[in-house]
Amino acid sequence: MNNNIWECVCDRLLKTVSKNEFNNWIQPLNFQGIEDGVANFLAPTNFIGTWVLRNYGEMIQRHFITEGTVIDRVAFKVDSVSSKKHIDKNNGIVKKEILNKSSQISERSFNDSNSLLPVAPLDKRFTFDSFVIGKPNELAHAASRRVAEGGAVTFNPLFLYGGVGLGKTHLMHAIAWETQRRNPASRVIYLSAEQFMYRFVQALRFKDMLSFKELFRSVDLLMVDDVQFIAGKDSTQDEFFHTFNALVDQNKQIIISADRAPGEIDGLEDRIKSRLQSGLVVDLHPTDYELRLGILQSKAEKHTMHYPEVIMSEGVLEFLAHRISTNVRVLEGALTRLFAFASLVGREVNLEMVQECLADILRASDRKVTIDEIIRKVSDHYNLRMTDLLSPRRARSVARPRQVAMFLAKTLTSKSLPEIGRRFGGRDHTTVIHAVKKIEELKSIDNQIAEDVELLRRMLEA
Ligand code: ADP
Ligand code: MG
Repeated sequence: MNNNIWECVCDRLLKTVSKNEFNNWIQPLNFQGIEDGVANFLAPTNFIGTWVLRNYGEMIQRHFITEGTVIDRVAFKVDSVSSKKHIDKNNGIVKKEILNKSSQISERSFNDSNSLLPVAPLDKRFTFDSFVIGKPNELAHAASRRVAEGGAVTFNPLFLYGGVGLGKTHLMHAIAWETQRRNPASRVIYLSAEQFMYRFVQALRFKDMLSFKELFRSVDLLMVDDVQFIAGKDSTQDEFFHTFNALVDQNKQIIISADRAPGEIDGLEDRIKSRLQSGLVVDLHPTDYELRLGILQSKAEKHTMHYPEVIMSEGVLEFLAHRISTNVRVLEGALTRLFAFASLVGREVNLEMVQECLADILRASDRKVTIDEIIRKVSDHYNLRMTDLLSPRRARSVARPRQVAMFLAKTLTSKSLPEIGRRFGGRDHTTVIHAVKKIEELKSIDNQIAEDVELLRRMLEA
């Protein structure tokens, strides 16, 4: 039965990750069963276990839950037999130190200091110290710091939002760590909205609402991650709303995250939206090149401690920061893989090996938005017909959205200016240049335009 559930989870994983990723990371795992809410696996190497935990841990947990088995976490131990096999199979080169490293038992343990609380495990790596600050996240970081310092509750809730992998969960964990450090007695609950729902459903099922309510209403700091998950789930929303109000009334801090602004979460009751908007709403902007490079440098330093033998040639981090602009998680995954690979095969990390080792990631981040999609989304957004957008009409109400669309076509696709002009009703490439300049200029002086562009870009890249 145990293996059955793992098979079902694998089926789900296959739909979420690429075949390549699946073969590289999931396939080598050996599912051992579930004990005390922990799904146990043997991994061929320490590295694979860590990598899977970091990159797919949450996903695996979620799929288990979707399959009806609630687990609190996943854990990996190194299987020294399959460890050798794996290395042999992949390279035929077995470096002594790697074998040493991978035969150590490495069960990753998370904090259990607060084991009485239904907290999702806090990741030790997600601290303020390890959070790299850049323009796109400085506000979110500052607000998080402020909340973590404790003191009078000034904004409640703190609502953090932004696209996948931009650091929302990292910041929330950092706040939890810092709060507990400053005041070990404070009761902190961190959990995802999905876990909140499961707790709630279980409480209903086991007729244990009283302790559910007591628990959530007696904390000093409640953090609910990915709150968009409860959209459309009416009774969970209801309970969330009451919990929320009870805590606000007691002047307790609440921190919420979501992948978009409160007002944009469809299927969320209006009273909840307005409650969520009543505190401080800050967004994490997509990373820019400098931030990505900063993050890569900081992570590379850490890897170097683990793999002192790995040499990285100049320009590699710059290349990655330039080419992988999707999200930080992908960036980290790329770096981890490079170090592991370099260490396994004893090679220097240079651009050639990057191309080889990260072919799938580079290809995926090449997956560019199409001009058709842009035209469709922009027309939708401005309530225009696609034919209007492509027509010769020059009224501002049509011309501006058209310029936005051209701007997006230039920045999100690799199409040439003449090609873009052609696709927009046979216009000249100078028209496209003009549009791009115009929107760039407007973005810095017109908030509405800046928001429109940002929103559209996010939707298109999602
Ligand atoms: P989100 O919750 O917004 O989807 P996460 O907080 O899970 O994103 O971040 C994804 C990964 O990227 C994590 O491993 C996190 O540590 C890392 N990360 C994101 N932003 C930063 C940053 N500014 N500095 C360091 N690491 C970051
Ligand atoms: Mg998250």
